[in-house]
Order: sequence, then structure tokens, then C-alpha cells
Amino acid sequence: MARWDFYESSPQTTNNKMALAGAIATLEWIRRQWKHARVVYVSDSQYLVKGMREWVVGWEARGWKRKGGVLENQELWQKLVQAVAAHEVEWRWIEGHAGHAKNEYADFLATGAAQRQERSNGLVPSGSTPGSPKSAPGGATPTTIPIRSCMSVYKDGVAGNTHFLNVLPDGAAAPAVDRIPLYEVYMRMAEELAKRSTCARLQVGTVVTDQVLENVLAIGYNGNARGLPNKCDSAVPGSCGCIHSEMNALVKAAGSVRDKVVFVSASPA
Ligand SMILES: [Zn+2]
Repeated sequence: MARWDFYESSPQTTNNKMALAGAIATLEWIRRQWKHARVVYVSDSQYLVKGMREWVVGWEARGWKRKGGVLENQELWQKLVQAVAAHEVEWRWIEGHAGHAKNEYADFLATGAAQRQERSNGLVPSGSTPGSPKSAPGGATPTTIPIRSCMSVYKDGVAGNTHFLNVLPDGAAAPAVDRIPLYEVYMRMAEELAKRSTCARLQVGTVVTDQVLENVLAIGYNGNARGLPNKCDSAVPGSCGCIHSEMNALVKAAGSVRDKVVFVSASPA
């Protein structure tokens, strides 16, 4: 089973707002990756879970008006209802800080994100978050989601490769690895490109592909801009004047293609 982390932070917020914003961001992210998904959303926010399970139906029926006045966080609730429409979502509440392992872990992520004012920018492999658990008051509401707990088999047999293109639904047989996986091809390509770097300090190569790894959108390596001499301006680190390989590749990639995948070779120590 693959696990990912997702966290957001905001300097001026409330737990309720953050519970809503976190759910919206997560479900939208899932939609971008898989279009439709069966999601079990586990949260320690009564506000979020009760709202989605009970209250929104009434609010929608009454045209998003509340008897006693304005509906708090109306815009967020409406956005969440939109985000949910793409999926089949089950909302589950669990008591916070009650020893539920994933809840404690989510609390650790949320607290760290609030302290550092960080966001994960999408799903990151679980456990890759820097920092250690701290017991400061969290500005964000911890939310944990076992996303598509059915995704478990790695196509390439490499458990560390949790990229969504590499996982299969539970029960599906992993195809025999009789051919080199495409990301391996692109990674090797990036390593070959690195050899073309004209920078004396760093040899780095980059391949940019589309999301399904079917088309190469651009390539790049460290060096001067076209037309300039193939050498560094200076030996001082940071002042050699070379353009980074990723930048060289990205400026050539079509901006119209969304969700690019970037392969960058490891830089030498
Ligand atoms: Zn250089």
C-alpha cells in the first residue's frame, strides 16, 4: 500500500477553515491525478464530517441560506461540494489526539507545516517530511486520508517508486518487468545529456516529458546560452554564468502542456 502526505498552511486561519481548505485541496489534487476515485476521508474535524454528511444537503436545498443569518465559510463549503462531485467520498470522523496512529501523524504534519508555514505542493511520499514532532498549538486541523487504499502493486517492482503512474489497484497483477520502464529510459537520457554540459563545475541533464511519459517536451543541460562561448565566466561557485539544466529545458517546453514530469540527473558531489 502506498502512502502519501499532504499538508497546507495559512498564516491567518481557523481550524474550521483549514479543515475545509485541506479537504478541497486534497480532493482536487486527487481529481487531477486520477479523475475519479473512491476516497475514504478520515478527519478529526466534526465540523467537516458532520457538515458533509448532514448539513450541506439542507443548505443546498435552501439556496445556501441559513435560518439564523449568514452561513459561515459558505464559499469554502460550496467549493468542497464541487470538489466532491468528481469522486465517491465516504466521510469518517475520528477523535483527535486519541492515539489513532494516522491522526497523530497528520497532527505532526499539520503542526510542522504551521510552524514552518509550509505546504507540500501536492502529494509527497509519506515520511519524507522534514522536522520532528513538536507539541506546539497547530494552526491547521490535522486530516488524514488513506487515499485509494486499493493502490498497492508497483509495476516496476520498486516499492520506493510511489509515483502514481507506477501503482496498480489491489488485486491487479503486476506486469512482468521484461522491458525497461519509461522513467528509467528518461533518467538514463538525462544522465547522457549531462555529459554535454559545458559547465566546469556541474554536469546535470534534464528531460521534460508529458504526464504519461509518452512525449519528450524538452531537454536541457548546464551551460551557456546559445551563441555564447562554451565555458564558464568564472570559477567562483554561483558566478560561473551557466544556466541550470532544468531551466534550459523548461524554457523550451510548451507551456500549454500541463502536469509535466521532469527528470533531472543527480549532480556530482
Ligand atoms: Zn559553469
